[in-house]
Amino acid sequence: MDTQQFDLAVIGAGPGGYVAAIRGAQLGLKVACVERESQLGGTCLRIGCIPSKALLESSERFHEAHTGLAAHGIRTDRVELDLAAMLQRKDKVVQLLTRGIEGLFKKNHITRFTGTGKIAAGNTVVVEGGEQPSELRATHILIATGSRSAPLDGVELDGDRIGTSTEALSYPEVPEHLVVIGAGYIGLELGSVWRRLGAKVTVLEFLDRILPGMDAEIAGEAHKIFQKQGIGFHLGCRVTAARANDGHCVVEAEGLAPIRCDRVLLAVGRVPNTEGLGLHEAGVAIDARGRIEVDEYFATNVPGIYAIGDVIRGPMLAHKAEEEGVACVERLVTGHGHVDYATIPGVCYTHPEIASVGRTEEQLREAGIEYRKGVFPFLANGRARSLGETAGRVKLLADASTDRVLGVHILGPRAGDLIAEAVAAMAFGASSEDVARVCHAHPTLSEALKEAALAAGTGAIHA
Ligand code: FAD
Ligand code: AMP
Repeated sequence: MDTQQFDLAVIGAGPGGYVAAIRGAQLGLKVACVERESQLGGTCLRIGCIPSKALLESSERFHEAHTGLAAHGIRTDRVELDLAAMLQRKDKVVQLLTRGIEGLFKKNHITRFTGTGKIAAGNTVVVEGGEQPSELRATHILIATGSRSAPLDGVELDGDRIGTSTEALSYPEVPEHLVVIGAGYIGLELGSVWRRLGAKVTVLEFLDRILPGMDAEIAGEAHKIFQKQGIGFHLGCRVTAARANDGHCVVEAEGLAPIRCDRVLLAVGRVPNTEGLGLHEAGVAIDARGRIEVDEYFATNVPGIYAIGDVIRGPMLAHKAEEEGVACVERLVTGHGHVDYATIPGVCYTHPEIASVGRTEEQLREAGIEYRKGVFPFLANGRARSLGETAGRVKLLADASTDRVLGVHILGPRAGDLIAEAVAAMAFGASSEDVARVCHAHPTLSEALKEAALAAGTGAIHA
């Protein structure tokens, strides 16, 4: 077996692993990266963030051409869907980006191994299932093996009619009736895609609200908007079974009559990929939820073995994995590395988008923290009016005594981009007055954040 020596061996080339590999190489380490798939980029690039956003964009344009352009004085006599072309475009976007990572690996002299990585004794990673078995000896091993869709008892995934987000990114025809199990961001984003393309969409959610973890008021307003878009919801409803039979499916949920549909999307969360890695044999500790246990510097209990991204605690988000990859490697090389978990944003790319950073009102109340709240509706924002996108609002929460910004929650156009200013403000410890006194270009959507900050203090100007 071919044996090579490295400073850093990364297992998994998702946003956690590939970013860590690049940063390590930039800092002078000799780096290897093991990935079992032929495309680099992990869940995020292949079957997650990127293809879902490509389809969200295309389906939104289709929907806009159908229903939104007339208001701008644009007549479109016939709008037709070419689903095959839409799916091909999505695949092309994925291909270009995954090839881009290959290019970055070459540029940074990172040695790539295609195959399944398994940790063996003495800081060794064995690569199997690729072109030729290899053995990598490494001073540091970084596990970045990510996650996969969580199964649900009674739901029989058949990889076709009853599937996960992966199948929902490539349905060959628009479903007549799609049932989505789980009202988290993945279920809502992909449910929105197929609704816009013409499917009847029904979302079944166990809790009595959508988007658990997001600010309840903002999620409640979003729920009403999604209902107006024609998405059906059954909240407080536990799905117990789903079966495919003869080209259709039946979904059973407590308190509901069985639902007949032609596709089911299971989106009830994700579970970490820890199987087959040799963790038990290596003595690496796993927590009660199956995640690899790490300390604040991403070190496991076994010296020389580290873990980041979806396979450890914290929000399962690509940018969180990236931050951890950089911090982990920088700490190994320079002795310093840090992730500010209080300012990791979360975005749901529906229409309108929902974006959030910091604490929700519920969390502040639960912690007994006194806060002031500033709200500004997009209805009163000039740019939102010009765009014809007036649904939603910005909500800013500031500490009642220090005025420090504690959380910002946005429902509205381009919320995912707008939240960046709130993240920067919070990262620098800004007060709501700081945000309110910063000059914002007019007319922009960003003025809504300034106005919400004003509303938290002496009062918004335009509301
Ligand atoms: P992953 O991206 O899962 O990468 C892990 C890699 O390790 C994979 O390529 C896997 O093949 C490889 N691997 C696993 N085991 C082995 C092994 N033994 N040997 C070799 N290779 C191995 N997050 C966002 O921030 N924004 C979004 O908009 C967003 N949208 C999403 C949409 C969908 C439909 C899904 C499913 C996820 C989305 N996510 C989004 C979540 C995001 O994709 C993950 O949080 C992110 O990919 C985690 O990165 P990671 O590097 O930890 O793991
Ligand atoms: P997320 O973890 O953000 O991807 O969201 C998954 C959603 O699925 C959560 O809102 C869960 O409450 C929901 N969920 C989990 N189990 C069930 C179930 N049996 N039936 C319906 N919804 C569920």
